[in-house]
Amino acid sequence: MTSPKDWHSDTKQVRAGLARTENRETSEALFLNSGYVYDSAEQAAAAFKGEADNFIYSRYGNPTLQMAEERLAAIEGAEACRVCATGMAAIFASMACQLEVGDRVVASQALFGACHAILTKILPRWGIQTELVDGTDITAWQAALAKPAKLVFMESPSNPVLQLVDIAAVSALAHKAGAKVIVDNVFATPIYQSPLELGADIVTYSTTKHLDGQGRLLGGAVLADKTFIEEVFQPFYRQTGASMSAFNAWVLVKSLETLRLRVTAMSVTAGQLAEKLADHSAIDSLQYPGHKSHPQHALAIAQMSGFGSIISMKVRGGRKAAFTVLNSLKLIDISNNLGDAKTLACHPASTTHANLSDSERAALSISESHIRLSVGLEHQGDLWRDLCQALDQIVLDKIAGD
Ligand SMILES: *Cc1c(COP(=O)(O)O)cnc(C)c1O
Repeated sequence: MTSPKDWHSDTKQVRAGLARTENRETSEALFLNSGYVYDSAEQAAAAFKGEADNFIYSRYGNPTLQMAEERLAAIEGAEACRVCATGMAAIFASMACQLEVGDRVVASQALFGACHAILTKILPRWGIQTELVDGTDITAWQAALAKPAKLVFMESPSNPVLQLVDIAAVSALAHKAGAKVIVDNVFATPIYQSPLELGADIVTYSTTKHLDGQGRLLGGAVLADKTFIEEVFQPFYRQTGASMSAFNAWVLVKSLETLRLRVTAMSVTAGQLAEKLADHSAIDSLQYPGHKSHPQHALAIAQMSGFGSIISMKVRGGRKAAFTVLNSLKLIDISNNLGDAKTLACHPASTTHANLSDSERAALSISESHIRLSVGLEHQGDLWRDLCQALDQIVLDKIAGD
């Protein structure tokens, strides 16, 4: 029998972290309890001193959370993991646990809206200097990291227009500047990109997205080496309450069993749709790392083993045309979520990125014509027919001189 650490990652997705009770249940158990009891006062005292291996309180440890954490760590190839209430709780705690007044953070400018707000509004209020750079431009990173920094944060591919950061090159520059590197790996998922292997120190996820992938829960995860998780992250997490609910951890641990099946099926469909959409007359340009038209297609091939389920497309005709397409969809839903089994579409400029100024959106190449498509598990033919009939509406509007 092979040892769990030698299992193929498909096997790890189904079995890693499984800790059965004396009842020998098949499936992972749900421990919906806040506290734990002790055999003696001495045992309780030893647990609080960290001398006994008991669970103490579910804010900082619970058997269901531990199963999800061990499974995710095994899938990612990380030494340790903590799961959090939301993706933002995971990202914020992974930064706040190591930053102090006077520190400097460098990040790519193409970020999820709430990450952008943490970097530009919250951290500066606490005396932390932040600098955003064009993540696609290595000379911008070189210039920003010529000075010492404590942390580098990036998202690759980025939301919503799928810009990439050269994770290996930027990690090397960051380490020379004395910084640890956090990669928000939501769009790539652990199936297609391993930031730790590329040189990053910490990986974060919104498990709300593909990791659950069925639209049921909010959650987040932080993965790194054991020393960081246990000595730097855990004390902050324990005191500040970012933990995931046990119920959500149980849903998540079951979702991870099908992660590869879901993500590969969605990404295969996304790749097929990207090929067809790129040639559609209603589309001005399309952003998909797996498509040859992506300006960083070569980097995508070098650092990703697949290209994910998200496509951005710029339709001809501005906001009006984009809204026409969204409003004409019959199967695909309008929603700002992503990574779901259901295909979802949104207009980033008026929703997920509405809080940015016009110039900030322009710097990120997010236009009024952009639609972000999160491809789900439906049949490719049904999705293509729905997209075509919706895109045809723009052409029909034009013919009508509207
Ligand atoms: C959704 C998302 C987040 C935030 O996660 P929540 O679970 O909504 O808190 C962070 N980064 C990226 C790239 C996301 O897509």
